[in-house]
Amino acid sequence: MAELRALVGVKRVIDYAVKIRVKPDKSGVVTDGVKHSMNPFCEIAVEEAVRLKEKKLLKEVIAVSCGPKQCQETLRTALAMGADRGIHVEVPEGEVEKLGPLQVSRVLAALAQKEKVGLVLLGKQAIDDDCNQTGQMTAAMLDWPQGTFASKLSLEGDKLTVEREIDGGLETVRLKLPAVVTADLRLNEPRYATLPNIMKAKKKKIEMMKPADLGVDTSSRVAVLSVEDPPQRTAGLKVESVEDLVAKLKEAGHV
Ligand code: AMP
Repeated sequence: MAELRALVGVKRVIDYAVKIRVKPDKSGVVTDGVKHSMNPFCEIAVEEAVRLKEKKLLKEVIAVSCGPKQCQETLRTALAMGADRGIHVEVPEGEVEKLGPLQVSRVLAALAQKEKVGLVLLGKQAIDDDCNQTGQMTAAMLDWPQGTFASKLSLEGDKLTVEREIDGGLETVRLKLPAVVTADLRLNEPRYATLPNIMKAKKKKIEMMKPADLGVDTSSRVAVLSVEDPPQRTAGLKVESVEDLVAKLKEAGHV
């Protein structure tokens, strides 16, 4: 059995099917009484880690979620899908907006080292803030290679091959572990957490910690205090070719 362990980041987000409503004071979006689920790209990351474990290429899959106490439900889903352990890095409900990709990356990098994992598997992006930054920043902090937007992954010893979709087709990157990988949509189709597995997962103990236990300060993100209405888009120039565009810009005195 391989000795390799993986850390998988699972974020609790508003469910993808929910229609998002902005709070009347425009200080954020309505979250009270709104269905939350595991970020879909994180489900793909968990699925991939569990498949690697089933192929005996991984020894242990550790799911981690940073956020309020309800993140434990997200971790239970990961456990029900086949993760071995769940770690909840608790950030009180009122301070969640201070938790950005930078803070989460610091938490993940610290945990990756503490748990001596060889692979950090994350979603390519969270569907609530659409940041698409955490994987890249975690790799930079650890000074590990990264394979982002993975649509196919294969592992042989400490060699990881990551295939990603680009405009011109497919691109293949070869990495040496330890590494960070972020999962894109086509990597796999995540399994459903079945009821018996959810019941079993309820019995598992979730390990609790605070960002400060990992040396991470979560008070430094500049919170978004208000949002302005987005500017209205006005009709732009209609052009048929680059020459046409240049001519029209010249006409308008822009070039
Ligand atoms: P983002 O950079 O915010 O788009 O998030 C990309 C990925 O980072 C997500 O799919 C998760 O795997 C991970 N991640 C982001 N935020 C959290 C969080 N609060 N807890 C656990 N993992 C997270």
